[in-house]
Amino acid sequence: MPGFELFGNLEKKEVTDVLENGVLMRYGFDGMRNGHWKAKELEKELQNTFQVNHAQLVSSGTAAISVALAAAGIGAGDEVILPTFTFVASFEAVMMLGAIPVLVDIDDTLTLCPKAVEKAVTPKTKAIMVVQMCGSMANMDALQIISKKHDLLLIEDACQAIGATYKGKPLGSIGQLGCFSFDFVKTITCGEGGAVITNNKQYYTNADHYSDHGHDHTGTDRGAESHPFLGYNFRISELHAAVGLAQIKRLPEFLSIQKKNYSMLREALAQIPEVTFRTVPEGGIENFSFLNFFLPSLEITTKVSEQFSQQGIDGCFHYYNNNWHYVRKWAHLKELKSLFPVPNEVKEGLKYLQTNDFSQSDHYVSRNLSCLIKLSWTEEQVQARALKMVEIIKSIL
Ligand SMILES: *Cc1c(COP(=O)(O)O)cnc(C)c1O
Repeated sequence: MPGFELFGNLEKKEVTDVLENGVLMRYGFDGMRNGHWKAKELEKELQNTFQVNHAQLVSSGTAAISVALAAAGIGAGDEVILPTFTFVASFEAVMMLGAIPVLVDIDDTLTLCPKAVEKAVTPKTKAIMVVQMCGSMANMDALQIISKKHDLLLIEDACQAIGATYKGKPLGSIGQLGCFSFDFVKTITCGEGGAVITNNKQYYTNADHYSDHGHDHTGTDRGAESHPFLGYNFRISELHAAVGLAQIKRLPEFLSIQKKNYSMLREALAQIPEVTFRTVPEGGIENFSFLNFFLPSLEITTKVSEQFSQQGIDGCFHYYNNNWHYVRKWAHLKELKSLFPVPNEVKEGLKYLQTNDFSQSDHYVSRNLSCLIKLSWTEEQVQARALKMVEIIKSIL
């Protein structure tokens, strides 16, 4: 997954362009920039790559989610449905707006279970946030039917699935709003950064203004611009955008390396009858940033995970025991350990977390191992890794 593994001359050149004229900010200073507008250029590239009309860069993937929700008018007391298996950023971004994250079960796609989504809809529900976890996706047709039926916004957190597609469409471009992260470990990176993509002009304009203190970005004098509504600062810097501009040009190269490495590992593991793979919905093509597979039980999975670590197979995550990606270890959320008072609506809205049964999610996450695919491996390294993984799994089964 991490594009940083292959940093090279292109990244250096783009960053040097910025340093040479000294304008580290994406807005203003027109005279000094020598024609360099890295953030604007990267936004164009994002529009082309993800086949959408608009892209707004921001400072992180978490910011992208908050900005996207805010752009669609989601806020205090609104319920946003999202999966139990995701990165903590998903619920953080919702809570920042005073909205309520409603966590629901996943299925064997390791993403939102459409039946669980349908069951969680209430009169307060405003959005379904699908998280395209570990390089693959949910059944988007099913989620679109539900969102249309209940008149809900469908928003995609595609931070972990840059370059994956569903029925020919890039992930992130299927919902009304899509969010990406370009943090240091994502498929393409800016160091820190994120983006909101959409075909909705109003959402785009809102995101553009909201992420820069409400600036309307008309004219050439920032100080004279007006502020049609309140905003925050979620700007990306020109230096970060420059790194991303180099990286997005290399996305096809990264995806093809990932696919090659993923396929070798998968072929080897597929020879073990007890190993099964996550379901990829019909018409879906992963970005191959992770190889996800299931073992027969929690006990076996725990043992395999331990042996992988001990025997040098790094980057394979047993998310069931991980603090950051699965509801089981989110005590800080369940107990609402906030530094500052939380709105009462959110307190009330999160009470379900004390009692909810997530055994369906446990069933999948407890038996899942998610193995990061690296770009820098040689073919020999991948083959050796595959052999070792098979040997370890067989020794424990
Ligand atoms: C990385 C990630 C984010 C947040 O991105 P940051 O840029 O680190 O804020 C959000 N959701 C998912 C699923 C992620 O993997």
